[in-house]
Amino acid sequence: MQVGNCPFCLRDGVELQDSHYFSQAVYKGFRAEELQNPNPLVLKAGRLWQSSEQVHDFVFCWECEQIFNRSGENWLVSRLGWQDKGFPLWTLVKTASFVPDPEDADFRTYMCTGIPEIDCDNVAHFGLGVFWKGHAHGWPNCERLSLGTYGDGLRKYLRGEASLPWDMALILRIVPNNQPLWSGRMPMLIDKHPFHWFNFYLRGLDFTLAVGKNIPDYLRHCCFVMNPTRPILAGIHILYDEWATMKKAMTQSTRSRSAAAFLSTPRTHTIKPPTEPDW
Ligand SMILES: [Zn+2]
Repeated sequence: MQVGNCPFCLRDGVELQDSHYFSQAVYKGFRAEELQNPNPLVLKAGRLWQSSEQVHDFVFCWECEQIFNRSGENWLVSRLGWQDKGFPLWTLVKTASFVPDPEDADFRTYMCTGIPEIDCDNVAHFGLGVFWKGHAHGWPNCERLSLGTYGDGLRKYLRGEASLPWDMALILRIVPNNQPLWSGRMPMLIDKHPFHWFNFYLRGLDFTLAVGKNIPDYLRHCCFVMNPTRPILAGIHILYDEWATMKKAMTQSTRSRSAAAFLSTPRTHTIKPPTEPDW
């Protein structure tokens, strides 16, 4: 048993649980049970191998774990993209009304507020919860995120004690297809200027958090929390970009013998991404 300070409720001397950066349930969607080794490829610090490894550590108390579970993880994770199970969140989002981009046919903004089946508060809580976890704790072998003085404001928002800090915007982008990449990419800092900008990708959904006084108005307008229409941006290029990022990282990585063998084995299913949106 580990006892310590829980950074979410700030209580000291509490029993700490074996907590996950992403929810434990997220990892089920990375597995391919039909294969002899169903474990996903893990790319970390330039090394590529097949592993059941999950990012976890003793961080939060039991009560706080339940807040993350019931306020976001339970609802969203089962609706992310799954191999052979489609992408339930996209199936819901595509029924919402949308605004096309007059200059880019591959770009739509869906307004989720009109779809009661989408639990927008849960979607936001999950994404913001992951960014905050990356700020509150140094997860093993992961980049530590720094939200500076905004971190405590976000903690209070996630606990339902305050509204989202004004100088913060959560931008959600979705792959408009039932076969998004089933991969995940851990949260990272993308840029510091003119505002801090963090990002992660998870099984069809791309999360960006903008932080700072210099967030431009158009980004504030896209905030999934503050804009009452609950906008989600959709475009097949989100998938291309993620695919390119992943391929580049894999090409530059050092592969374990088993990962190299896995990648050279003919597969029964394709991992070639779809090229068209399924509007
Ligand atoms: Zn706690």
